[in-house]
Amino acid sequence: MKIIMLGAPGAGKGTQAKMIADKYGIPHISTGDIFRANIKNGTELGKKAKTFMDQGLLVPDELTCDLVVDRISREDAKDGFILDGFPRTIPQAECLTDALKERGESMDYAVNVDVPDENIITRMAGRRACLNCGATYHIVNIPTKVEGICDRCGEKVVLRADDEPETVKKRLDVYHDQTQPLIEYYSNQGILKTVDGTQPMTDVFDAIVALLEA
Ligand code: ADP
Ligand code: ADP
Ligand code: ZN
Repeated sequence: MKIIMLGAPGAGKGTQAKMIADKYGIPHISTGDIFRANIKNGTELGKKAKTFMDQGLLVPDELTCDLVVDRISREDAKDGFILDGFPRTIPQAECLTDALKERGESMDYAVNVDVPDENIITRMAGRRACLNCGATYHIVNIPTKVEGICDRCGEKVVLRADDEPETVKKRLDVYHDQTQPLIEYYSNQGILKTVDGTQPMTDVFDAIVALLEA
């Protein structure tokens, strides 16, 4: 099963993608996590990506496409994968479509997690992320068991620098401008499914599973 998660920053793509990956035993591929790991390790890619991420801008397609094409070509992705945060632009989507076409394949589902902008700002202010293992929490909706500590790996959870309200506003503008057109792109491919992302986390998950197994 090859799935794309679409939706605004903070819509819950990552939260759902991890649960879907666990349920179906497929790798969860998050470009945001890959960039953050590169920043943490001080790589060239990390240094380049950081200048864009800090401003709420997208990392250029040239730095992003090959990375994902390479990742989905690995052995663990041969029976499927879930993409979270990629594609984010029409050129990225075309790059993905072309890479799969070369292998005689195509994506199966693009799941759009729909959440209005009004809900996003509050969600992001409460998001806490583990920069060690990629887990995300929310101080009110989805709290860690021990305050400030990741349930999965025991590291500290933090407010991401790009989750400050000013940067979130910029990211929402970028989303509407560059990423939202993908909804039509995948609708035209006949694989778009939309779920109401304002429901509680487990209800969103049940709705996605129902769509995937319909
Ligand atoms: P969110 O969880 O809020 O959707 P991500 O962790 O997916 O955010 O991404 C964080 C930042 O990393 C983005 O604002 C952007 O700068 C960069 N990024 C992640 N994925 C991509 C991508 N596919 N193309 C360009 N930039 C990306
Ligand atoms: P994205 O990957 O789309 O940027 P996340 O999965 O990181 O979004 O979720 C954004 C924030 O909202 C996190 O703090 C997360 O814990 C919280 N969250 C995720 N799903 C829900 C939900 N259904 N209801 C309320 N809060 C949620
Ligand atoms: Zn962790």
